[in-house]
Parts: sequence; C-alpha cells; structure tokens
Amino acid sequence: MNINGIHHILSIVWQGQENLDFYHGVLGLRLVKQTVNYDDPFYYHLYYGNKNGDLGTLLTFFPWSVDKIEGQIGKGQVGVVSLMIPKGSMDFWVKRLDKFKIGYGRLERFGNQVLRFQDRHNLAIELIESEFGQLQDYEVNGITKEEAIKGIYGATLYSNDLEGTKKLLTELGLKYVGEDNGYIRFDANNDLGKYIDIYTGDVKDGIYGGGTHHHIAFTIPSKEIEYYQTKLRKLGYQVSPVRERTYFQSLYFREPGGILIELATDGPGLTVDEPLDTLGQAFVIPKEFAHLKEGYEGLMYPLFIRQIDKLEDYPYETKSQYDSYITHKNRLNRINELARLSKERELTSLEIEERSRLRKEYVQAIRSTVSMSMGFISYETETGEQVKISKKGEEK
Ligand code: ZN
Repeated sequence: MNINGIHHILSIVWQGQENLDFYHGVLGLRLVKQTVNYDDPFYYHLYYGNKNGDLGTLLTFFPWSVDKIEGQIGKGQVGVVSLMIPKGSMDFWVKRLDKFKIGYGRLERFGNQVLRFQDRHNLAIELIESEFGQLQDYEVNGITKEEAIKGIYGATLYSNDLEGTKKLLTELGLKYVGEDNGYIRFDANNDLGKYIDIYTGDVKDGIYGGGTHHHIAFTIPSKEIEYYQTKLRKLGYQVSPVRERTYFQSLYFREPGGILIELATDGPGLTVDEPLDTLGQAFVIPKEFAHLKEGYEGLMYPLFIRQIDKLEDYPYETKSQYDSYITHKNRLNRINELARLSKERELTSLEIEERSRLRKEYVQAIRSTVSMSMGFISYETETGEQVKISKKGEEK
C-alpha cells in the first residue's frame, strides 16, 4: 500500500456561518462545496480548499449542533491540523490574527516556526511556512497570493497506542522521517497533505462532539479501492464497505490508537456536479436526497460567503431561528434609529407609538427561549443610555 498524501480532514463544529466567516473570511480559504451531511441530511457539510479544491487542501466541516454534545480534543483523535503558507508570510499572518483578535502561540517543530491558534469552535489549527504547494492565484479579503494558504501541511495525531499507530502508518506506505521534541514524523508521499506527526506527550482522552476533528482521510487511486479494502482486512482491520461520497469513494476503519481513518479515492472530484469557476457558491443536494429539496428550503439557514473585518456570533442553527434572529436584529436597528432621530428632532406621534410597540416586542422576544441565547440584551435610549434587559425580560 502506498497512500498519496492527506485527502481531507473532517471536523465537527457548531455553527455554519461562524465556520464560513473563519475559514473563508479570516483564513482566506475558498468554500469549494456546500452540501449536506450524508448521515444527517438536514445539516450542512462544508468543504474549503485552495482555488481548485485540490486534494490535500480540503478541510471539511459538519456544523452539527445535534444534542449539543461538546467534544474534547484528545487521545484517539486528530489533535491539530497544520496548514502551509508561503515562505516569508508568517508576519502577515501574525498581524492578521491580531486584527481579528485571535490569540495564538508560537512553537518550533522539526526546524519550522509554527503559529498555533484555535478556530471559532476550539479546533486547533497551525500555520507553517513551506516551499511545498503552489502559490494561489486567488486573492480574497486582503490576502494576496504571496500570503494565501496553499493547502494542508500535515496533521498531528493523538494516539492511544503509539506502536499500533506507527505500525498502521507504515503499513499504509508512509515513511518514517524522525523525531523531534515529543513528535514522531511520517511522510505521506505527497507535497500537499505531506506530514503526519504523532504526539507522544500526555493529552486528555478525546470525547466525540462539537469542536473536534472527526477523521483524517488519505488519498488512494480510484481503481485500487478494493485492493486496499482486502489488504487492510487481511491485516486485521475492521474496514467498512465502500461508501459512495459523490466526489470520491471511501473506506473507513479505526486504527489501533483509536483514530478514525478514511481512505478516499482521487476521483471523480468536486467538479462532478458544478463547474470549477463557481465551486461552492450554491447549495448542492446529492441525488440521494433530491426528494428532500423543498424541505431544505424551509429548514436550513442561509449561508453568506462574505468578506469580514471582525468575527461575529450567529446564534441560530435552524431556518426558523435564523428568521427570528433577523426579525430581532431589524427591530433593534429600528429602535436605535429612532433613538438617534429623537436626538435630532421631536419624534412624531406615530414614531413614538412605533417605538413603544417595538420596545414591547423586543422585551417579549427576549423572554422567548430562542432569543435568550441571542446576546441582544441591551438597547440604547434617546438619551444614549444603554438599557439592559435581564434574562427574565425586565428592563433594568
Ligand atoms: Zn471524510
């Protein structure tokens, strides 16, 4: 067996728009596919990558708030995802993280400077300068091609069984590179998605849930999927049947250290259902779920691919919560607008009536459970005073 680099890494997060603002708005990755989670088709599955959505650049996410299970990154999981940036761009990224008020740490591994931080949902991400990968002919939100992320540099695994994980990586054809400061490095035979590091230090036990990396996929040639399945089964791994994933076919198994591994084929690729130029711009429904089309419109909140200059919270997980959020936001804007107006001139009796009604509605909305989590707990009065509303909905 001779796998060909990391194919993609899938992680579970809480909220899709927050995820999109972070990976596109801050990190500048291209959203290359918006589709649904095959296991729970009323939730998004979002893919980010380089301009062409090449294998070895793909980070995929389930914004999946089901049961509100908060995960913990730890043993039996992918611990950290490392992304590669062009040589000489580290200072740019430090400034960019500062701009978005994202805290970070610096470390060194195998002679490289590493910038480590967390995304909106506590996933551990690193940026590392590398000569591998191609400069991206794609500029977004203040990131030029001299700085843009080129793809996945590697991933750090937190294993429950160091020897077992090393054995599996070797069986898959990864080459042992060396050890440095508590990390054992393997080379996955491709410039994109090249390195797998196993961290040998102590970490907590991993708990499955939001804010964790779910699995790591390696690339195999399409025509060899049955060969890999047979070979791994012979070696004693419990390998899944071949799964059809529209853009590739996959096998899954758990390695001895507890980490879920996927082997995914190198074709047919992300352009199978939309052209390269417009990848990721529209919501794509797999043919298996075509009959749910109308349901999607009523149930899934919209996503906006946009440039941002600060991070925001989006307290909705369904279409109806999104609708309430928008109504609430509009109401608040109008209340504040009337407050501003009242400083400039006398409000008309209609406006005073409107203001009174809006305030009542506002307080009412705060009382409802949906808006309790919305974070709008104050508004400005005509004297510029911030009126706080307690969770019970009383003005203070
Ligand atoms: Zn996957």
